[in-house]
Amino acid sequence: MIIILKESAAPAQIEELRKNMESRGLVVQDIRGESKYMLGLAGDTSGVSEEGLQRFDFVDRVMKVSEPYKLSGRHFHPEDSVVEIPGGVRIGGGNFAVIAGPCSIESEEQILSIAKDVKRSGASLLRGGAFKPRSSPYAFQGLGLDGLELLKIAKEKTGLPIVTEIMSTDYLDIFESDVDVIQIGARNMQNFSLLREVGKLGKPVLLKRGPSSTIEELLMAADYILVEGKSSVILCERGIRTFETATRNTLDLSAVPVLRKKSHLPVVVDPSHGTGYWDLVFPMALASVAAGADGLIIEVHNQPERALCDGQQSITPALFDKLMHKLSALRETLQSA
Ligand code: PEP
Ligand code: MN
Repeated sequence: MIIILKESAAPAQIEELRKNMESRGLVVQDIRGESKYMLGLAGDTSGVSEEGLQRFDFVDRVMKVSEPYKLSGRHFHPEDSVVEIPGGVRIGGGNFAVIAGPCSIESEEQILSIAKDVKRSGASLLRGGAFKPRSSPYAFQGLGLDGLELLKIAKEKTGLPIVTEIMSTDYLDIFESDVDVIQIGARNMQNFSLLREVGKLGKPVLLKRGPSSTIEELLMAADYILVEGKSSVILCERGIRTFETATRNTLDLSAVPVLRKKSHLPVVVDPSHGTGYWDLVFPMALASVAAGADGLIIEVHNQPERALCDGQQSITPALFDKLMHKLSALRETLQSA
C-alpha cells in the first residue's frame, strides 16, 4: 500500500502517521516521486483501512500495490538503487562493475595469481567460493574458513573487495566482519531464515536467482532481506532450468530488462553458470551488457583444466582480459548510441 501525501502535509503529521503504521508492525518507506511525497507500507496491511487513511486531510489518496513484493519494487523506490561496496565500488544507477575469480578458492598461489590478473584487466571485485554448494556430497566442498583466509590475503594484496557465498547461519559473524559482498547462492534463494539473518547484517548481498524460480519469486526473496532494514541487494540472473540440454542452464537474458522494469535493484548476470561452457561466456557477457545489466560475475581460472570445480565454464585470465576490452568498447558504443 502506498499513501500519497498532499504537498501541504506537515512533517509532524507525516511523522505521526509513520509511527502509527509502525506500531502495527508495518515497515514504512519514504518514497519521493517527481513532485509527490509518499509513504510505502510493507507488511500485513489487511488491518489498515483505506477509508480511514483518506480521512486525514493531508492524505491525497491511497494506492494498493498488487505485486507480492514491495521493498524491491519500483513503486516503493522509483529511482535506480546504487549499491555501495567498501573500497569505493558502486553498482547500479549507471555504475557498472565486474566481479571475477575462480569458482572455488583452491590454494594461496591460485587465488593470488587469479586476483592479480583480473585486477590488472579491470575487475572491480574478486569472487571465490570457500563454502561450495555441490550437487554431490562426494565432490570438493570448498576449503571452508581456510579458504576465506586465503581470499582475505588476496584482498589485502590487490585491494579488491571480496564476494563469497554463505551457506548457512553458522558463520554469520565471520562473514559480517570479513566479507564485502555476501553471496546467496541459487540453491539458497528461498532459504528464508538465511535471507532474514543476512538481512540483519547491513552488508551488500548478491542474491542469485534459483534455478527454478520465477522473477517474482526472486523479488520476494529480495524483500526477505530488505525487510530487515539494513542490507542492500544486488540481483543476479544465473540461468534457469529448462528442457534444453545443450547448455548447463538457460541464461534468461530477458530477465534483465524485466527486472529493471519491475525493480530498482541493480542486476548482474552470471554467464558462467548461465551457460556452463567457457566458450559461451564471452558472447553471453556481451549480450548481458547489451540487455542492460549493471554488472557481470565471471568465473576465471589460471588452469581451468585442473580446476577443482567448474573448470569447463571458467575462462582463462587471457580471455578475461580480451573480454574486458570488448566490454568497454561495447559500453562506449551503447552510451553514445
Ligand atoms: C557460484 O557462484 O559459484 C555458484 C555456486 O553459483 P550458483 O549458486 O548460481 O549455482
Ligand atoms: Mn561455480
